[in-house]
Amino acid sequence: MIKKRRGELIVLSGPSGVGKSTVIAELLSSRRDIHFSVSFTTRAPRVGEEDGVNYNFVTREEFERMIRDGELLEYAEYVGNYYGTSLKVIEDYLQQGTDVLLDIEVQGAAKVREKCPEAVLIFIIPPSLEELSRRLRNRNTDSVDVIAQRLEKSRAECRESVKYDYLVVNDNVMSAAQEILAILEAERCRVKKRIHLADSIIGTQD
Ligand code: 5GP
Repeated sequence: MIKKRRGELIVLSGPSGVGKSTVIAELLSSRRDIHFSVSFTTRAPRVGEEDGVNYNFVTREEFERMIRDGELLEYAEYVGNYYGTSLKVIEDYLQQGTDVLLDIEVQGAAKVREKCPEAVLIFIIPPSLEELSRRLRNRNTDSVDVIAQRLEKSRAECRESVKYDYLVVNDNVMSAAQEILAILEAERCRVKKRIHLADSIIGTQD
């Protein structure tokens, strides 16, 4: 009997303002079978963000309870707020054979690498730092101080990209999403994930 394939855990990181959410939306529109993991955060919702859709917005007390009770696969503190991934939700999807996508920052990604070495880690970078600064200002969601903090953090984050498996430049949303699709396709063809297909042939050798 062929064992049901376990879902792929896909981690996407990139500095704030790089356009991750747009690339993710594009990716999910062509791969509707991927489950996007909705993170928990203590940050306040931005205009247009919905609880349970963009994030699960919780209090600091609730988040700290989740940490204590071991409910998070990973979590990190980022620009003064907690962000974390529910262990149970993603484990259920992976076991059912559904691919799961995490949009998380670099400390969280390092934790995932440690706990789930088979995860695919993709880092998205902007074409330049100037372009990133322009995108953050145009977003009009953060104060000048927060933008400055985020830019400084972005440079440090981009240094972490060497620890990832793949690097995608978001110069154009469509091509960035296409590259990610190609990465996922290649990952599915890895010998270790397809060895069962060769088993019957290998097995007949004497
Ligand atoms: P933002 O406040 O701009 O929505 O997110 C700030 C950063 O937190 C982004 O880099 C985003 O990828 C990251 N982030 C979102 N959810 C999680 C999570 O569950 N865990 C970790 N470690 N980072 C997260």
